[in-house]
Amino acid sequence: MAKVVIFSGAGLSAESGLKTFRDSGGLWEEYDVNVVCNHDSLEKNEALTLEFYDKRRRELEFKAPNFVHRKIFEIKEEHGSSVAIITQNVDNLFEKAGIDNEDVIHLHGFMPEVRCRSCEGVFDIAYKKIEEFKGGICPNCSSKLRPNIVFFGESAPMYEKLSQELSDCEFLVVIGTSGEVISVNGMAKAAKYSILNNLEESESIDDTLFSKVLYRKATAAIDEIAEKIDEYLK
Ligand SMILES: [Zn+2]
Repeated sequence: MAKVVIFSGAGLSAESGLKTFRDSGGLWEEYDVNVVCNHDSLEKNEALTLEFYDKRRRELEFKAPNFVHRKIFEIKEEHGSSVAIITQNVDNLFEKAGIDNEDVIHLHGFMPEVRCRSCEGVFDIAYKKIEEFKGGICPNCSSKLRPNIVFFGESAPMYEKLSQELSDCEFLVVIGTSGEVISVNGMAKAAKYSILNNLEESESIDDTLFSKVLYRKATAAIDEIAEKIDEYLK
């Protein structure tokens, strides 16, 4: 298990031009996120829901990783299994920066993947529309496929991996999350050393629990964070 955990949220990918829910105001382009991201969305609004994710998947093709993704790739290359990368983001920008998909714990799913609604088979379809992959039908069992994304109100199986990683975490780095969906206060309390890097304060985060607080863009903080990690692991 890793000593260092880098936990990230939407703020990290915002600098690559991906919108955050927060600045979407409940709407994402023309879609109401409560209609297309909810646990009953596939049941009630299937076509609209699949279309929404098709567009989100497609837009990833044209987004590039930023300096933070690339720097975290370097950190991971240097320190290997001593560093765990855990993200609430469903995009593939860490992977585009060169990190193996299996080295990134995507807590809320992974946009380039679809999943069978019955057998739970998972398939990487890159930037395709879901219907462009085997007609949207599972090649194993012929059931319908769905985005491999955790919708609001659904359980998130990767949370178990998160708690496993946190149980051994000594050094915590939090980047670009408001702490509203997953609380980071307890994580900071449990770690020996912790860094918080957000654009600004958040009501859900008690920043006095962190050893170091950097309120600035992640691209302007990551060098300092990388130095601290290097110092800790050397
Ligand atoms: Zn199946």
